[in-house]
Amino acid sequence: MTKSFRQQLTAWYLLLFTLLFLSFSVFLYGLLSRALYQRLDLTLSSEVSTAVEIFRGELAELHGDVPAAAAEAMSEMGIRDVLVAVFEGSKPIASNAPFDRPDLLAIAAQASASDRPEIVATIRPFGKVGSRVAARRFAIEGRQYVLLVAESLHSIEGDLWIVRRVLYLALPLVLLVAGLGGFLLATKSLAPLRWMAEQARNITDKNLEAGLDIGPAHEELRVLSDSFNELLSRLHQSFETMRRFVADASHELRTPLAVIRGEADVALDHDRRPAEYKESLAIIQDEARRLTRLIDDLLNLARADAGHMNLSVEEFYMNDLLVECCRTVQRAAVAKNIGVECQSPGDMAYRGDQELLRRLVLNLLDNAIRYTPPGGKVSVRLEAANGDLRLQVSDTGIGIPPDAARHIFERFYRGDQARSRQNGGFGLGLSIVRWIAESHNGTVELSSEPGAGTTFTVLLER
Ligand code: ADP
Repeated sequence: MTKSFRQQLTAWYLLLFTLLFLSFSVFLYGLLSRALYQRLDLTLSSEVSTAVEIFRGELAELHGDVPAAAAEAMSEMGIRDVLVAVFEGSKPIASNAPFDRPDLLAIAAQASASDRPEIVATIRPFGKVGSRVAARRFAIEGRQYVLLVAESLHSIEGDLWIVRRVLYLALPLVLLVAGLGGFLLATKSLAPLRWMAEQARNITDKNLEAGLDIGPAHEELRVLSDSFNELLSRLHQSFETMRRFVADASHELRTPLAVIRGEADVALDHDRRPAEYKESLAIIQDEARRLTRLIDDLLNLARADAGHMNLSVEEFYMNDLLVECCRTVQRAAVAKNIGVECQSPGDMAYRGDQELLRRLVLNLLDNAIRYTPPGGKVSVRLEAANGDLRLQVSDTGIGIPPDAARHIFERFYRGDQARSRQNGGFGLGLSIVRWIAESHNGTVELSSEPGAGTTFTVLLER
C-alpha cells in the first residue's frame, strides 16, 4: 500500500507533538503537585510548633492542669479549617473539633512510639478529598504528649484539578494545531516536488534540454532538481548523438547506393560494349564492398553501444599480429610507394580479442597509408611499458591540425571531408579504434604535426 508522504509527515509531526505535550504536562503536573505538598507540609509543621508552644504555655499558666491546658490550646488553634488534637501517649485528651478516626489515632500512636519526633502522612478519605497529617511527639515534665495537626487537601486538590482540567482541554487543542501545522508544513515543503513532477510529466524527447525549474526551493530539493537536470542534460546529449548518428549513417549509406543506382541506370540505358559493362560492374562491386564495410562498422558500433559485444579473449603474440597486419597493408603501401616498417622486440604475449585488435591495427595502418603522400614512411612499433603494451603507428603524412585533432575520434568525423571521402573513409575508423582500445581497458592518444606526420599511441593493459 502506498502512503502519502504528506500524511506520513503530518502523522509523525502529530505523534511527536503529542509525546512532547504529554511529557511536558506530566512533568509540570508533578512539579506543581510536589511544590504544593511541600508548602502544606511546611505550614503543618509550623502549626504543630505553634500548637505545642501554646499548649506548653497554657500548662505552665494552669499549673499542670493537662486537660484544661489542652482544651485551652485547642480552642486557640481552632481558628482555621484545621484539626488539632493533643494526645497523652497515644490517648486523645483534647481536640479543637470532634473526631473519631482510627487512622488519626494510629498516626498518634505511631508518633508516640516512633524514633522520629515528627511524622507526616496523608490519609484518605477524610472529608471528600483526604487530609495531610503531621504528628509530633514531645515531653513536658517527664510526660509524653503527641500533638497532631490535620489539614484537608481540599485546596491543593482543587488547584491540581484546575491544572488537570486545563491540560485535558489543551490536549485536543494542541493536537489540532499540531496536526494542522504539520499538514501545512508538509504541504508547503512538498509543493516543489509536486511542481517538479508536473514539469517532469511535460518533458519529452523533444524538450529534454528545458529541464526543471523549481524556483527558490530548499537546498535538498535543489540538489534533487540539479541532479535531475544533469540527468536530463546527459539524456539530451545521448539523444542528440543518436539522432546525429542515424542522420550521418543514412547520409553515408545514401552515397554508395546513389553511385550503384547511377551506374546501373547508365549501363542499362542502352546497349553497351562488354568492356563498359565490366567497368560499371567493377564500380558497383567497389561501392558494394564499401557499403558492406560501412554496415559492418555501424553494426559493431551499435552492438558496442548496446553493450552486446562479447570479447572472445584468447592468448596470442601481439608481435605476430603486427607482422601479419603489416603484410596485409603491404600491397596498398607499395602501390603508393610508401615504406612500411614493423619494429617489435620479440615475443610479446597478450590476452585479448585478436580479431578486434587486428581491426584496430589495420584501421591505424590504413589511415597512415591513406593520409601519407607517396614516398613517405609508415612505422609500427611495439614495446612493453610498465607492464603494459605500447603500440605506436607513425607516419610521415599530412598530419592533423589541432582543431581537427579534437574531433577525429567522433563518429563520422572526417578531417578534410572531400579528400577523405575520395580516399574511401566514412569517419568511423578511429571511433572503432578507440572503442576497441577501451574495451581492452586501454587508451589511444594522438600526437601530430601538420605537414610532418602523425603518431597514434595505443596503451593496452596486460
Ligand atoms: P576516415 O574513414 O575518414 O579515415 P577515421 O575515423 O579513420 O575516418 O579518421 C577520421 C579523420 O582523422 C580522417 O578523416 C582524417 O582526416 C584524420 N586522420 C586519421 N588518421 C590520420 C593520419 N594518420 N594522418 C592524418 N589524418 C588522419
